[in-house]
Amino acid sequence: MIEAIFAFILGSCLGSFLNVCIFRLPKDKSIIMPRSFCTNCNTSIKWYDNIPIISFFILKAKCRNCKHPISFRYILVEVLTAVLFLLLYLKFGWSWELAKFSFLFCLLVVTSFIDIDYHAIPVYLCVVGISLGLLWSFWPSFKMLRTGVYELNSLPLANSLKGLIFGLGFTYLFKFFGDVFVDIYLNIRKKDSIEGERESLGLGDVDFMGMIGVFMGVKAVVLVFFLAPFFAVLYSIFAIFFKKSHLIPYLPYLSLATITVFFWGDKILGFIL
Ligand SMILES: [Zn+2]
Repeated sequence: MIEAIFAFILGSCLGSFLNVCIFRLPKDKSIIMPRSFCTNCNTSIKWYDNIPIISFFILKAKCRNCKHPISFRYILVEVLTAVLFLLLYLKFGWSWELAKFSFLFCLLVVTSFIDIDYHAIPVYLCVVGISLGLLWSFWPSFKMLRTGVYELNSLPLANSLKGLIFGLGFTYLFKFFGDVFVDIYLNIRKKDSIEGERESLGLGDVDFMGMIGVFMGVKAVVLVFFLAPFFAVLYSIFAIFFKKSHLIPYLPYLSLATITVFFWGDKILGFIL
């Protein structure tokens, strides 16, 4: 129980760091220096006002100095990351798997929120994810290679590479035909773009699915790809009634689908088959 609480607290600290990443990475600013500051009055935030989750309530969601409201987003990211880290801890305990997949989940959170803000993500985020994911499956593969008894197909690295190629190829194929469809639609309607966009899926979505393939394999790519639209449709219905924009950043839905498949993929597969 105490260890689970510790995992939750550790996760909330991780979430606090992710807030910094989400805010600074798209602006090409360092995520290490300077220390956190209020975006309104630029006062640097004291350590006792920077405690994940708790400070938000103590400060009543306002900057101590200028009383500018602190966005609800900060505590959302902290709680979300803490819950995800706790779930991973309950699944894996303190292990390399926990480190590996909490890294992936951190990338899911960061890319999703940046996509919500900018409708695009820095290319290097998924490249870093793909590279580290491959490195992670290289090590157990290396140990298996040294024993001399193995099947090529059972090597984790082989599965990661298959996942990568399939994730990129499969998603790109959908993007290609989606773009053709959008083109035809724009021609018929004699428009230049749909609210400034001419693409069905972005290249960020393609890279993202490559990353999912590296970490979770071919099957997960297919499940995530076909599950994400269900989440997106739910939001679209909401958007049609409450907002005008039909454009939706897609990474949050791919991330939601990834988390669902990660924890309940076998059940979903069992249900379908
Ligand atoms: Zn302030």
